[in-house]
Amino acid sequence: MSDSETLVRRPKSRRECAEIAKKRLKIDFGVSASVSAGVRSSTDSGSSREGSCDRGSSCTASDKKCCLELSLNCQNGSGMECGGKVPTQSRNGSSDGSTNGNGGAGRSFHHVSAGEHFCQACYEEVSKPGRPWNDSFVKWKLEWMEDSRRSPTLRQYVADQLMPFWTQCTKCGKWRHLHRSVHLTNDSHKKFTCPSASHHADIKPCDVPEDPRVDPASKREWSQTLSIPPLLHNSPALHYLRSDYFHDEVGMSPTNADFSGKVPDSELREFLQPFNIPHEGTIALCLRPDVMEYDEIVQFPEYCSEAIMYLALRNLIAALWNMNPFEYLTLDKCIPYLICRGLARVWFASELDRVLQFLTVKGVVNYGILDPVKTPIVGPEYS
Ligand SMILES: [Zn+2]
Ligand SMILES: [Zn+2]
Ligand SMILES: [Zn+2]
Repeated sequence: MSDSETLVRRPKSRRECAEIAKKRLKIDFGVSASVSAGVRSSTDSGSSREGSCDRGSSCTASDKKCCLELSLNCQNGSGMECGGKVPTQSRNGSSDGSTNGNGGAGRSFHHVSAGEHFCQACYEEVSKPGRPWNDSFVKWKLEWMEDSRRSPTLRQYVADQLMPFWTQCTKCGKWRHLHRSVHLTNDSHKKFTCPSASHHADIKPCDVPEDPRVDPASKREWSQTLSIPPLLHNSPALHYLRSDYFHDEVGMSPTNADFSGKVPDSELREFLQPFNIPHEGTIALCLRPDVMEYDEIVQFPEYCSEAIMYLALRNLIAALWNMNPFEYLTLDKCIPYLICRGLARVWFASELDRVLQFLTVKGVVNYGILDPVKTPIVGPEYS
């Protein structure tokens, strides 16, 4: 058995004990239909969340614009009504299950979230062998499976590789989306300003109204409309977690797993290990990166059934703090490391504040002797 196989095999036992830990938490909390009612159940296979616009979101025909524009026949902006005509090509037997067969609403468009869909023509550019995007989809699947427990579905590929990044203008704070081919990095995030839009040539770039999809995406309940949980790219948590966990189980994308940010010096690392690395023994106050703790569930019961998005944020915050425990960790310091495609980034950014406040109160971050900050991190609900 090769080294790489050993590395891949090890986390599977982690996963089993994570399942046991999660079950125990649910039993202890008596989590029943009441808590999980609004939350789709989580399963190992992403495919169970695949589907069209029937996931607690009420997508209207005008919501359905293709966010990919891969195909020359892309139905973007065609104003197709719900349940409009399906392109006549037969489906190619993809096991994705992404098109519902009932001929109802959403048949021509694949739902990613409220506000994000892609059309059947673009779907086929990826799914059909010989089409331009199929090769990279196949390569991506292989890479994905090395560090993931979730099935490499087409929808996951779209969310991970094809959807546009969204970022905030450093001047006006409005959210804008980049072209699909433009990658958002920690640095480009810090420099971004509104681009001049050709169809708004007469007004200043920052005066162009924000996309109307941004506001709903910054609401907590928007996450319920996602067909698959988004995963963070190149999270700083990678620095600590390395190959000990399946990336998708700790909120990180398996195929965007390069973290090259500032790392603590070696002396500091001896003492600071935010996460429990199973074969290295238990260290007091370490977090399990793949399981929510009791108090976290009490505070964030909505994540009880589907913890990935919470874990992604919490692990990112804990990693950043451990990399520099001599300065207050603020929202502004976290945001540049919060990278993922799609409107999910808007949602993550607004939820980050709540998680950072909680972790500060819990004593996971922002403890010790620190220079005071001007604006309090912890809101009135905690004081
Ligand atoms: Zn939809
Ligand atoms: Zn399209
Ligand atoms: Zn602007």
